[in-house]
Amino acid sequence: MVEKVIIVGSGPAGLTAAIYTARANLEPLCFAGIHAGGQLITTTEVENYPGFPLGIMGPQLMEDFRRQAERFGARIHGVNVSRVDFSAAPFKVWVEGGEERPHEARSVIIATGASARPIGLPNERALTGHGLSTCATCDGFFFKGREIGVVGGGDSAMEEANFLTKFASKVTVIHRRNELRASKIMQKRAMENPKIAWRWNTAVSELLEANGKLSGVRLRDVRTGAEDLLGVSGLFVAIGHVPNTRLFEGQLPIDANGYLKVEGSSTRTAVPGVFACGDCVDHVYRQAVTAAGTGCMAAIDAERYLAAQGD
Ligand code: NAP
Repeated sequence: MVEKVIIVGSGPAGLTAAIYTARANLEPLCFAGIHAGGQLITTTEVENYPGFPLGIMGPQLMEDFRRQAERFGARIHGVNVSRVDFSAAPFKVWVEGGEERPHEARSVIIATGASARPIGLPNERALTGHGLSTCATCDGFFFKGREIGVVGGGDSAMEEANFLTKFASKVTVIHRRNELRASKIMQKRAMENPKIAWRWNTAVSELLEANGKLSGVRLRDVRTGAEDLLGVSGLFVAIGHVPNTRLFEGQLPIDANGYLKVEGSSTRTAVPGVFACGDCVDHVYRQAVTAAGTGCMAAIDAERYLAAQGD
């Protein structure tokens, strides 16, 4: 059987594409991945998704997205895609642990997202959502009047640090070198902010924990090896994102940072019939609501593509 549309990914972008394609009678088949739900699954309360004046827990929001898509007939399977072949239509999609034979589709929507790059410390995952965060826009509000740290020296770290000074009493930027990677204007803004302190040539070597929450960090001077403690109740890690696009290497154009390329403001990739949306394309906004918006765009682009093909 050749599907009308296969969706790869199940964060806000993939599941919004599923809702829209299902309501357009395209009977989407969505490969959600074994860790379905995308980055919101690892967050706690989401307070900035419109329509939820009292906030909603990230996992609950994604469960609701999923139920909404299934209500209109989307088939959502919790399996990882292992390989794709977009060299000719119908497109071929293999899943892990699946049969030798690939699934086939006339169109594919890619919504595989991105993962925040972790520092690589043992209790990092356990403390995520409990003092450790990768999204200041999402979690900054919880640190009103507290001292917090930001790890990284790029534009994201500067943006997060500046934003967090709206809430925190003090923000310490911890960077592994003595010069920033961030653009001059972002550097200047952060340097001029009186609430931001700096720890140069410094790495976070340990996340300290009390009652299941982050209570501080151990810092190591990367030149001398000297260690000291910094008492912070929040640590925002902004050392880059890794778009989940390795699967598409050799199949679709990918930019120097690993993001899938799309034509202009559309979701069309270089292969007609293959569309991409959400954080695997977007390195600028990276919000649940913007991902959902581009998921909707991809569904409409796919629907129009199929209509033009006579489907
Ligand atoms: P980035 O530019 O790659 O910067 C990552 C930073 O994290 C670098 O300072 C890097 O240190 C540090 N780092 C990387 N791995 C690390 C590790 N394992 N431990 C400690 N530190 C580590 O990433 P980004 O800041 O997320 O920006 C990504 C892209 O989005 C960039 O093109 C950026 O310009 C753009 N962006 C733009 C805006 C804006 O214009 N408003 C905002 C955010 C992002 P080194 O410097 O030593 O390599």
